[in-house]
Amino acid sequence: MNTRHHLEANLKRLRMPGILMNVDMRSQEAGENNLSYIDFLSLVIQDEIVQRENNNLKRRIKAARFGMEKTFEGFDFRFNENAISSRLIRELATCRFIDLRQNLVIVGPPGIGKTHIAKAIGHEACRRCNSVLFKKAHRLLEKLLAVKLYPKYESLFRQCIKVDVLILDDFGFRKLDSKEAELFYALIDERLGNGSTIVTSNRPPQDWINIFPDMVMGGAILDRLVSGAHKIMVSKAKSYRKEGQSLTHKPLDKKEKED
Ligand code: ADP
Ligand code: MG
Repeated sequence: MNTRHHLEANLKRLRMPGILMNVDMRSQEAGENNLSYIDFLSLVIQDEIVQRENNNLKRRIKAARFGMEKTFEGFDFRFNENAISSRLIRELATCRFIDLRQNLVIVGPPGIGKTHIAKAIGHEACRRCNSVLFKKAHRLLEKLLAVKLYPKYESLFRQCIKVDVLILDDFGFRKLDSKEAELFYALIDERLGNGSTIVTSNRPPQDWINIFPDMVMGGAILDRLVSGAHKIMVSKAKSYRKEGQSLTHKPLDKKEKED
């Protein structure tokens, strides 16, 4: 076996794909620029680090189950400038509130970008090595309650508690029954102080109390979820679904229309 093959076999054994992929190019670069051994070694190790970080990011994004991914690179901050403070969003995009295990509530009419912002913050959180899970709020509760029928959901509750950032999309869509409310209380109570929860809703938090069958439990949940949370509260803004498309001439695909 020649040295090149030996190196390749060893790098595969050590699981160092970043070095393997770049070593020929780096060795050519080293020859052309008379790089020292130390400089060369430093470059290939940096390649390995970049490759591992990319792989980890991909893994975290896949685990977050965003469905259609959204990022701030694709967000037009000027579109609803008057209604949605770009300064606040940029501050939230730093994920400092996630380090502090604080919550975020995003409220406003349909189509203004609530889900987009929540997913984009989730994406930033993934980039900063946080674990994230995105779920439609009511669908999640349905799944958690169906655990007896579908054992595959058994680990879901633990995952929802453990994850650094839990995004509950479209909360408050309909009334909860007592089982759903109890489960939701357990979830929010367990997460309090241990992770960040991001909630989006078309209804303002003062209306949420009405979706709970029991006002006392509802109050306790809202106290934990909303009281100390950061808030993006929009009462009136343009729907990007209606108006934004004409700016980009890019029709929404079917999956997004269903979101
Ligand atoms: P909401 O959750 O408030 O109903 P969405 O986040 O689903 O709205 O937004 C509807 C569509 O418009 C999505 O495709 C989203 O990516 C897009 N969108 C909304 N606001 C913006 C924006 N400011 N810049 C770019 N795309 C946007
Ligand atoms: Mg939405």
